[in-house]
Amino acid sequence: MSFSVVIVAAGGGTRAGPGLAKQWRFVAGKPALRWSVEALLAAGARELVVVVSPDGEALAAEALSGLSGWRAVHGGATRAQSVQNGLRAIEGDPAEPVLVHDAARPFVTASHVRDLLKALDGADGAIPALPVADTLKRAGDGGLITTPRDGLWRAQTPQAFRRDRLLAAYSAWTGAEPTDDAQVVEADGGRVAIAPGDPLLMKLTFPEDFDMAERLAGAARITRTGQGFDAHRWGPGEAVWLCGVRIDHDQTLIGHSDADAGLHALTDAILGAIGEGDIGDHFPPTDAKWKGAASDLFLKHAAELVAAKGGRILNVDVTLICERPKIKPHRQAMRERLAEILALPLDRVSVKATTTEGMGFTGRGEGLAAQALATVETPA
Ligand code: MG
Repeated sequence: MSFSVVIVAAGGGTRAGPGLAKQWRFVAGKPALRWSVEALLAAGARELVVVVSPDGEALAAEALSGLSGWRAVHGGATRAQSVQNGLRAIEGDPAEPVLVHDAARPFVTASHVRDLLKALDGADGAIPALPVADTLKRAGDGGLITTPRDGLWRAQTPQAFRRDRLLAAYSAWTGAEPTDDAQVVEADGGRVAIAPGDPLLMKLTFPEDFDMAERLAGAARITRTGQGFDAHRWGPGEAVWLCGVRIDHDQTLIGHSDADAGLHALTDAILGAIGEGDIGDHFPPTDAKWKGAASDLFLKHAAELVAAKGGRILNVDVTLICERPKIKPHRQAMRERLAEILALPLDRVSVKATTTEGMGFTGRGEGLAAQALATVETPA
């Protein structure tokens, strides 16, 4: 289902302590805002607007550098005005679902989005919420008074609405500054549905929340593994390309591109890890454009797809299977070339080789085979 996103990042976040506002502070190596933007773009947002204060525009550009598919809009004096500015900046079908999200909740995932869009079906709004588990106390002059928690929920973001419905509710709103968007729709007579909340949707409010977020950061990511296999036939030639390195040899591998089976197997492993089909889907051998192509191109494309999902490659491992040429003298150069293409440290790149002791097509010298594994980390 098509949806757009408004992320509110215009606040000063004074409760989080001195320094930059919390949306610009780093959590596990990147700005809090970037976590949400990457995750919501990866979840398929059609349009994504980040609402910032005028002096936040440069900070947003820096925090989101290298990402496309988002734009900044100036906020207003209050959160409610900022949300409305963001909603009005979205183009297209006014009845399209829009998710309104606080930049201070970094760990939103595609599955949160799916749950919300499902819950929005037949309702005027949908919010992730958790039942209150702690005993609640009200502090007064006479000491603490225990307050029943039955039926109480903690509302989180993102919150989902039809864009025109939320804008209409804001136009009708006459109350004090609302603390979320669902209450504006409730006040306008709308029905707001509850989607499963998640402790991972925690809000960064106080300085100690950043320590908690650092610890949770790992739980908001998943590790995926993909494998690839490729084989090419030997034919007349004087050199062969393997793992991006040219090796002088008395034969060459025959193929539509440069027939670099190592790079092809590795490309398929990375595509496999992110569920993006295989090399033939992305670079059809029937397309003359790829005739004789250097296979670095295929590997780079797979790495770019990982980055577009907000992911990163953790390590890769390639095994070349042949009797000749000897791979060992070239192994280090191959590792270095792969590390360069993938922008990985050398110790995350492995190239190994084996023979099949004369057995099978590789043993008889009819062709060369390559296997590869790739481990990739992406948002959950
Ligand atoms: Mg191939």
